[in-house]
Amino acid sequence: MVSSSAIEQPILRAEGLGMRFGGFTALNGVSVAFPEGQLTAIIGPNGAGKSTFFNLLSGAFAPSAGRIFFRGRDITGTPQHRFARLGIAKSFQITNVFPQLTALENVRFAIQCMSQRFNIWTPRHRYTEMSARAAELLEMVGLDRHYHRLTMNLAHGEQRALEIAVALACDPALLLLDEPTAGMSPEETTAMMGLITRLASERTVILVEHKMKLVMGISNRLIVLHHGELLAEGTPEEVRANDEVRRVYLGQGNH
Ligand code: ADP
Ligand code: MG
Repeated sequence: MVSSSAIEQPILRAEGLGMRFGGFTALNGVSVAFPEGQLTAIIGPNGAGKSTFFNLLSGAFAPSAGRIFFRGRDITGTPQHRFARLGIAKSFQITNVFPQLTALENVRFAIQCMSQRFNIWTPRHRYTEMSARAAELLEMVGLDRHYHRLTMNLAHGEQRALEIAVALACDPALLLLDEPTAGMSPEETTAMMGLITRLASERTVILVEHKMKLVMGISNRLIVLHHGELLAEGTPEEVRANDEVRRVYLGQGNH
């Protein structure tokens, strides 16, 4: 018999994770395991604690309580800049892209920063190699017609796709995305969902989204937060059938 523990080893695990802002508890004792190779969506109404949870998982904040494990290793409190080297990348931090650079320059710069042998005097052949890799990543996110456009001239949806290409520069095993479709048109949203599905076929993806409908069809698992607590988790079917989840979402009118 195949050992199920090897198959079920989670890539990321939160144990009793909590976050307080002054006297306010934004996240309270959340324990969740994220299976490797799967797309897990964290959903919940506005103010549920999704972004707070995301910021803890991505190392932006140190938790007030609890631990975070990456492939079984305790990474609680690890400085954020080390996350990329561990194989964890996140989007969207608008500060990751430079408006005055072209799309290609932004991605190549991210690749340069990740390169172990990074040196200001990058040899010519390495530069060409990095440009080719940057072009490949831009093609992957659907920006192949925009290599040489300035980032500030890209549409909102294109800038968000570019940020994903930047996040992919470190070839992460785990990609974390917080509301990637925020502010997007319906067409941009559809394109972004298609991109996320493609990306999730090759790596683990954790996606924060408040519109449950958007993630139902593409996620392997759903985590539902409400008032900073874990309300439900399971397959999309299980979560859809959960009475408490229905109540919370119907109450909000954003199902
Ligand atoms: P979501 O992403 O699900 O909409 P958040 O994680 O952004 O929710 O916020 C959860 C709760 O924590 C909200 O009530 C919010 O006002 C509060 N909160 C989030 N960040 C901070 C902060 N830096 N300081 C104080 N309160 C915060
Ligand atoms: Mg949020």
